[in-house]
Formats: sequence, structure tokens, C-alpha cells
Amino acid sequence: MKTTQSKPVGRPPAFSYLKTSRSPEGRVLHCDQASLTALAEKYGTPLYVYSASTIRARYAEFESAFARHPHTICYSVKANSNLSILKLLASLGSGFDVVSGGELERVLRASKKSAKKVVFSGVGKTAEEMDAAIRAGILMFNLESEEELHLLAERASRLRKTARIAFRVNPDVKAETHPYISTGLREHKFGVPIERARELYALAAEQDYLEPAGVSVHIGSQITDIAPFGETMQRVVALVRQLLADGLNIGYVDAGGGLGITYHGNSNATLRKSVRAYAATLIEQLRDTDLHLLLEPGRSIIAPAGALLTRALYSKMNGNKRFLIVDAAMNDLIRPSLYHAYHEIVPVVQASGRKGASHGSSELAVLDVVGPVCESGDFFAHDRTLPNVAPGDLLAILDAGAYGMSLASNYNTRPRSTELLVDGTRVRQIRRRETFADLIRSEI
Ligand SMILES: *Cc1c(COP(=O)(O)O)cnc(C)c1O
Repeated sequence: MKTTQSKPVGRPPAFSYLKTSRSPEGRVLHCDQASLTALAEKYGTPLYVYSASTIRARYAEFESAFARHPHTICYSVKANSNLSILKLLASLGSGFDVVSGGELERVLRASKKSAKKVVFSGVGKTAEEMDAAIRAGILMFNLESEEELHLLAERASRLRKTARIAFRVNPDVKAETHPYISTGLREHKFGVPIERARELYALAAEQDYLEPAGVSVHIGSQITDIAPFGETMQRVVALVRQLLADGLNIGYVDAGGGLGITYHGNSNATLRKSVRAYAATLIEQLRDTDLHLLLEPGRSIIAPAGALLTRALYSKMNGNKRFLIVDAAMNDLIRPSLYHAYHEIVPVVQASGRKGASHGSSELAVLDVVGPVCESGDFFAHDRTLPNVAPGDLLAILDAGAYGMSLASNYNTRPRSTELLVDGTRVRQIRRRETFADLIRSEI
């Protein structure tokens, strides 16, 4: 579709309003150069749309911010695990952070040679998952308990292959975020207490087929205040110095993921600023060391690259409350229901006369945007001010690239959505919509 030269407005990096020859009625939200009205017509809704150029730009932003210190980005697969997205990231040189045998399989499927850049995190790795990862020759296991250490030692010696390990230490640092995604406090299930770490590393060093190689942390997700990352890294580096003094050969620190995004009006500039501040804080703690830094970003790379398109089905008033019922639901994007997360919601077609992200003032309504699932918790927004949306209109739920599709379910026997990867003008379907047959395939 031909677009005019007018300056894009709206919501960069991935999504902006463009005027097209086919949209005399106003500006249409695009993902890169692809019109979202056209994509919704062709592929149906709900529909996940991702921008490849934004994924590349976000990855490059990390690479450039950390360029002055040896590092490897190990993208957190659980944020969005679509094979085509993993393949794209692997082609950029990314490693991967996996938390299950299934995620490891995905990485191997997307790019076999990325195995040597995989770190395996998670509190409950099974013997089978360990065997698969040992055989694949991954970079490092992030261990989270003494019992796990013993099991891995046994599996590695059975396979006669040395496994590199780090302990995920719990630094007891408080990071402001939702309680469900905060992980760095003593009372959380994650990691081993940092005070016990030396003793555990000494134990690991005695095992024939384990090689203590790093120290790892991950204090939570959607953390927007940079200070806890610095405080954590300071504690980790202090531990590494003790371990080095103990005679261990620790070469890696794994800083985990967790860098938040704003969700309220991201832009290239705000995203860049936060990655740079994050990098400066971590590197400051590492500058007198030879430690290779591992990073496990998920959300900060993929969230701004994706949107969930949904079509309005009905609008109604219950008492004084106005509801807009849309065809996407909590099974497609559970973040609002699970974390009370905020997602910007914008109309895909911006009627003429309105400019930019402010949707004009003439016809606004305050409403709840809800899905068809039979739960009061099935909502995308409460008391949100939106331009008057009529049934049939398209909406885009922004910043839905992370923890959207990867947390999607078939609740209410709803098929999971199509996913599209847009690259400039090229559109690729990277997952087809599930059919009813897909949903009952494993049932007897
Ligand atoms: C979830 C997770 C990440 C990624 O977190 P983001 O907030 O998406 O950056 C990284 N490392 C571990 C161990 C995780 O569990």
C-alpha cells in the first residue's frame, strides 16, 4: 500500500499513524510499512503483530549500550518464544536464557549453533531437562539449590560431560514492581541466599563433572528504577572476589533480566535512555574486573515490538458504567488480569482532524475494555478514556510483544491467535490461528 510522505505520528518505534491513498477517512496505524486495517482484514482478529525492525533496533540498543564491556545478550525466551522471533534474534548474534526443556528445544530448533550461548535458569529443572542441556553443550546452568547441584553432578558424571555452573544468588535487594514478578528478596522461592554461596561453590568445585564458572542473579521483572540493579551487582562482584580468592575460576556474571519499560507512551528516546542508564550502572560495578557479563533481557527487547489487534464487538451501559466488549480476551493477553498491568489502547483508524496520540477532545468516552471470557477479571482497561469506538472498529493494544502470546491459553476453548512478523513492507505469518481440531487433538 502506498503511503504518503507525511511524518509518522503516534507511537514509535514499532507503530505509527500514516496517511495512505486508501484511507481518505484519516490516518491508519501501521506496523513498519504495513497497514493494520489491511492485516486485520486479511488474517482476522485477535491478531498479534510484531515489528522485525523494532526487534533489531532494540537488540542493537543493548549491544551499543554495553559495547565497552565484554558481554553476551541471552534473550529470555519466556517473554516471547515464537520460533521465527528466536531465529531472528539468533541471526543478530543473541544467546538465550531458557527456563525449561521445552524452551531449550525451541532454541535448538531455531538455531542449533546457539546452544553454546544458552543459560538454563529455573528452580525446578528435572533430570531429563538437565540431560538434554548437558548433551546440547549449553554455556551454563544457573543452579538454585544444593539438591539441584547434587542432581546435576550425578547427571553430568553419568554422561561424562562437564557442566559449567553458576549459582543464582538471592541478593536480598528490594525492587519496586508487582509482587508476582519480584524475585530478589529472601522470602522468594528463587536462588540461594548469598551468604551461603561460598559454601555451595566449594561443594560444586569438589564434583568431578561440574565447573563453577559464574555467579548469577535475577531480581525481578518490569523494574524501572535502576538503583537496585547496581546494588545487586555490587553484592555479586563482592562475592566473585571472595570466590576468586578461594581459588575458583569465575569468569562470568549473569545480571539476569528485568529492565522495565514505561507502558505509558514509550518512544525510541525513552527506551534508549533507560538501556543506557542500566548499562552504565552495571558496567560501573564491573569496570575493574575481567568478568564477562551475561544479560537476560526479555521484555525490554520484545514488548515494544508487538501489539495485539482486536475488534470491538459490542458496547453497552450497565448502570452508569460503559463497557466496550472486544474479541480479544484474557486468554490472549493476561497481563492486565494477572498483574493489573496497564497497556495503552489506541484506535487503529484515527479520524481526520485528530492529531498525534491525543485523540482529539470532541468525542471521548470513559469505558471499560473487556473480553468475552466468563470472568470479571477478563479486562484490558478500567475507566479508560478512548475516542468513541463503535462495534466493528479496530483497536491496538500496545506493548504486547512480551508475556502476551507466551502466556496465552485456550481458556473458554478459545483458539490462540495468529502471529505476524512485519519487516518493512514484508509480512510473514509466523503462527497460524489454532483450529478447534488443534484444541482437542490430545484429548481422549
Ligand atoms: C523472566 C526472566 C528473565 C527476563 O525478564 P524480563 O523482565 O522479561 O527482562 C530473565 N532471567 C530470568 C531468570 C527470568 O526468570
